[in-house]
Amino acid sequence: MNPNSFQFAPETFTQARTRIADRILRTPMVHSSSLSERAGVPVHLKLEQLQKTGSFKLRGATNAVLALDETAQANGVVGVSTGNHGRGLAYAARQAGVKCIICMSRLVPQNKIDGIRAQGAEVRIVGSSQDEAQVEVDRLVDEEGMTLLPPFDHKDIIAGQGTLGLEFLEDVPDVETVLVPLSGGGLISGVAEAVKARKPDVKIIGVSMERGAAMAASQAAGHPVQVPELPTLADSLGGGIGLENRYTFNVVRDLVDNIVLLNEVEIAAGIRHAYWQERQVVEGSGAVCLAALVADKAKLAGPSVALLSGCNIDMNMHQRIISGEDVDVAGEGEI
Ligand SMILES: *Cc1c(COP(=O)(O)O)cnc(C)c1O
Repeated sequence: MNPNSFQFAPETFTQARTRIADRILRTPMVHSSSLSERAGVPVHLKLEQLQKTGSFKLRGATNAVLALDETAQANGVVGVSTGNHGRGLAYAARQAGVKCIICMSRLVPQNKIDGIRAQGAEVRIVGSSQDEAQVEVDRLVDEEGMTLLPPFDHKDIIAGQGTLGLEFLEDVPDVETVLVPLSGGGLISGVAEAVKARKPDVKIIGVSMERGAAMAASQAAGHPVQVPELPTLADSLGGGIGLENRYTFNVVRDLVDNIVLLNEVEIAAGIRHAYWQERQVVEGSGAVCLAALVADKAKLAGPSVALLSGCNIDMNMHQRIISGEDVDVAGEGEI
């Protein structure tokens, strides 16, 4: 591989790992008999849905908060995410004794607000759209000197997520294929950079949902594009990659070997497989790698790792899915 394909120095990831080591869990890697039998190669599951706050987002958020200089830490951090990044950022900031404000619009459901508050952040509700919430974020940055930490397109966030790649290599030294959920691409960028710098021949496969796969559409177009955001069981994979994307579009273009897209029925089957075969509670976005294997949509070159990335799912919804219901999140009867 062309060494110019890399945007990050390999030690970025070992440094991030040292920085966050005592604040995150080193989650288990387990062998899956059922998926190994199905795929004909050893398949291992990285149980990152057991991470504190319920997703890997804590890794990037912790690294980014700790990488700030003293003045920036004293002024605090701000975020706009109501999902896993918001939770991770809130938790990471509290652990580091750094003030954290998460801005959201009035339309955000109460359970999401409670989820963020429970991690210790101040929630500021402003306006009735994401754009109006953004105005308050800009004010906090400009007037109060706070630092905005975005969910994926940021070098310290990517470095933190990439620490997972180092753990893959340690736990499965003969790994040949890695499957990673893909949305904005902070996760897969970190993993691909960390893994391929050390083992260039490992295949990296990204998995997204058909309903609103912004990175896949952008790669097909050759530049970042917007796609309509649609309701999906993989709700943590929604949203665009940013038309001004700085890092993740290029890393995915240069280092990701393939992107697999899944429909809603396939994602539901992944959640069911996780529960009944692997005994794990996983959210839709966290189950897409399993879903790709169950649907036989990913080609595995040899010993493989599939990442389970999060567990933050409404448990009533989870119960309906594992009981066999085809939950129609779109309300369009077309799953
Ligand atoms: C954010 C998230 C992803 C996708 O990560 P990106 O860096 O945006 O590609 C996957 N799974 C879960 C559970 C997430 O919260």
